Amino acid sequence: MSTHQEFLRGLPKMEMHLHLEGSIRPSTAAALAHQNNVMLPPHDKVEDLYHYRDLKEFLDIYTAVSDSVLSADDYRRITYEMLESCASNNARYVEFFFSPQVHFVHGVSFDTMIGGITTGMDDAKADFGVESRIVPGVNRELGPAAGEELLDMILARKEERLIGIGLDFLEAPFPPEPYGDLFARARKAGLKVTAHAGESGPAAYIAGSIDALGVRRIDHGYHVVTDEALMRRCRDEGILFTCCPSTAAVTSPWTVLDADHPIRKMADFGLRLTINSDDPPMFSTDLGEEYRKAHDLLGFSPDMLRRSILDGIEGSWLDDGEKRALSVDWAREIDALIAEFRSIPSLST
Ligand SMILES: [Zn+2]
Repeated sequence: MSTHQEFLRGLPKMEMHLHLEGSIRPSTAAALAHQNNVMLPPHDKVEDLYHYRDLKEFLDIYTAVSDSVLSADDYRRITYEMLESCASNNARYVEFFFSPQVHFVHGVSFDTMIGGITTGMDDAKADFGVESRIVPGVNRELGPAAGEELLDMILARKEERLIGIGLDFLEAPFPPEPYGDLFARARKAGLKVTAHAGESGPAAYIAGSIDALGVRRIDHGYHVVTDEALMRRCRDEGILFTCCPSTAAVTSPWTVLDADHPIRKMADFGLRLTINSDDPPMFSTDLGEEYRKAHDLLGFSPDMLRRSILDGIEGSWLDDGEKRALSVDWAREIDALIAEFRSIPSLST
């Protein structure tokens, strides 16, 4: 090991906040768009596809790229490539979101999507050893009735790797409370639940997600730092926050990644959180780069990273036996990496 990047890359990792449609490589997006006759926004070179100037351009690109994924084999390919990138950053367990409702408008069936995605998961497990689970996200802009239809499809599929549901897309003006019945039904059916909240939306959406949706996990959640009573509550209740440094610097009000950033404040306060990559190629990042930013910019020490990885295992949707085994194995592995890292004096700061 010669650099601290290698130490960070070598850490065994959980990836718990990653969107399938936001993980499509630019070259794959271009190939699928060509194959499926979808017009992508103008770009000179393939590598420039994800260069955008504002949120509107970003959403245009995101939509066009999502529109380019049609067949089961397209889903297999993007899933496999996403997990290949995770594995190359030493992520060994991945719970990823995808947005079925974006694709229904093109007449793609839920079974086609899940068939392709699970084949990609099987292939990635065989080739890279990476274990993964699917978390369909309910689009909060489309209303609870559309979400209920999606839940019907998830339950009908009886695929055990369809492990839970999320809530995503624009936060304001779409608070969590109207989704209470939907989430209650999902929980009753044995699905795990999580919700995007407190990224661009207020702290009240975090509290609302915990109270009305019954989530024990919040995706992003940076606005928690604006409400100290809520911070104490989340700490006492062991709520897990899945944080994403690169996107937090664009989509939350806190655009400077330093020791004053909410992610660092949340960690210092004792909240449970994990480091994740969200929409990596669209923000020119990957999971290893997110760990680098956590260490170099947010000032996470090796011990803080260790804690976040073990918190991720504890807050994951693996079963209890798997969690215990993974915690013991990874703690031992991480401790050895930290000991080796500290033995290189010039790199141990
Ligand atoms: Zn997200």
